[in-house]
Amino acid sequence: MSVLHNHPQKAKEFVANDERMHWHDTALWFVREKRDKASKSIPEWEQLRTFADKIKSHTMANLDKYLLEFEKNANAKGIKVHWAKDAQEHNEIVHKILSQKGVKKVVKSKSMLTEECHLNPFLESKGMEVIDTDLGERIVQLRKEPPSHIVLPAIHLKKSDVSDTFHEKLGTEKGNYDPTYLTRAARAALREDFLNADAGITGVNFAIANTGGVVVCTNEGNADMGASLPKLHIACMGIEKIVPRLEDLGVFTRLLARSATGQAITSYTSHFHGPVEGGEMHIVIVDNKRTPFLQSSSYKKALNCIRCGACMNTCPIYRRSGGHSYDYVIPGPIGSTLSTFRDAKTHKTLSFACTLCGSCSNVCPVKIDLDSQLYTHRQDLREKDLIDSKKKISMQITAWIMSKPKLFDFMGKVARKIVPLLPRAIIYNKMNVWGKQRDIPNMPKKSFKDLYKEGLQDVK
Ligand code: SF4
Repeated sequence: MSVLHNHPQKAKEFVANDERMHWHDTALWFVREKRDKASKSIPEWEQLRTFADKIKSHTMANLDKYLLEFEKNANAKGIKVHWAKDAQEHNEIVHKILSQKGVKKVVKSKSMLTEECHLNPFLESKGMEVIDTDLGERIVQLRKEPPSHIVLPAIHLKKSDVSDTFHEKLGTEKGNYDPTYLTRAARAALREDFLNADAGITGVNFAIANTGGVVVCTNEGNADMGASLPKLHIACMGIEKIVPRLEDLGVFTRLLARSATGQAITSYTSHFHGPVEGGEMHIVIVDNKRTPFLQSSSYKKALNCIRCGACMNTCPIYRRSGGHSYDYVIPGPIGSTLSTFRDAKTHKTLSFACTLCGSCSNVCPVKIDLDSQLYTHRQDLREKDLIDSKKKISMQITAWIMSKPKLFDFMGKVARKIVPLLPRAIIYNKMNVWGKQRDIPNMPKKSFKDLYKEGLQDVK
């Protein structure tokens, strides 16, 4: 039985630490501003977004053809391709490949798909050691926490948290918060792990149909180490990672790093087109509830996501409630729409974790209509009778009032007169959740309708 998630409750826990909420907000806004500068540095930015949208939408409409083309070309390069219908099958395939080679220790670079499939606990339950090698991922792994952001997995932590974790797990000096010192300590430990590992697992940013190769983008080079030092490389990807041609790749690499961190390009954009000498390379292609998106006119564009994280960095809710409040492998606006489409009951609060400001859709490099999707989810939840009764009743009352213009005008008139006279304790009562952290603006003297009519008179 699935556990119902409760975003408002989790967000409440996050914002209870006011200081943390503010630095989290500030840290992500800093990344958003870097993205703005980087996007404005190339005049063809909007054109690139349009190309990306078109390429992705075309690819998704012809996914069967491109996936088979990819498989044929990958096979020709000596790569073994496997197909998994769900997370369980994916984990079993990966485990089988590893156990056939007698693997005991695996180094893994960042892959949201393997997080989605819960690969680490699965392999660990079979007696294998799995080391996450991206620095942020390693930090959260040592703390036994899930990532809170898809690009910045440890963004919810301060230097002091990392220092305490490294002191406990890696034996670094207590109280030494110097990021260079801490990074060097992690690097020294990871170097040993790379040298001792029997296999490397990577994610896939892009899989190119007409070459049969895959591309992995990192800033730390950890995917390259993991895929090159051990003789066995397994790359795990969702079916949506396909791009048709090598020429299409440049559109996405130019958009990805700028949208994610404001860099012109990730430090490493590595192409894997076959096994290392004397080694083996496998690619596991996973569906895991992706194909239903292709049939949905409202939500299919969610599959176009290239996992840049820009929608999280700009989202006022994500920035102030933290990634863990979403209780889903991918947080933020894209996580809210993906999760609600997959399991509306479990994630029914997530489409309300949105102000409908539309900032996410504005920054999305592949032009996913995120805010419209979240709005549509709310209507679908109502159809499925999954809206909380208090919310449903208040919406029904509001709809009733708004459908009666005379009553609406009258109530507005009364409110404009009465609200300024009411004692504060009555306005900011327990029922007024919105007013908990903000003041209601001063009541205007006239309604919008009155002002509009006056404006029309002026024009005449
Ligand atoms: S939905 Fe768009 S902005 Fe959000 S992570 Fe995906 S590609 Fe980036």
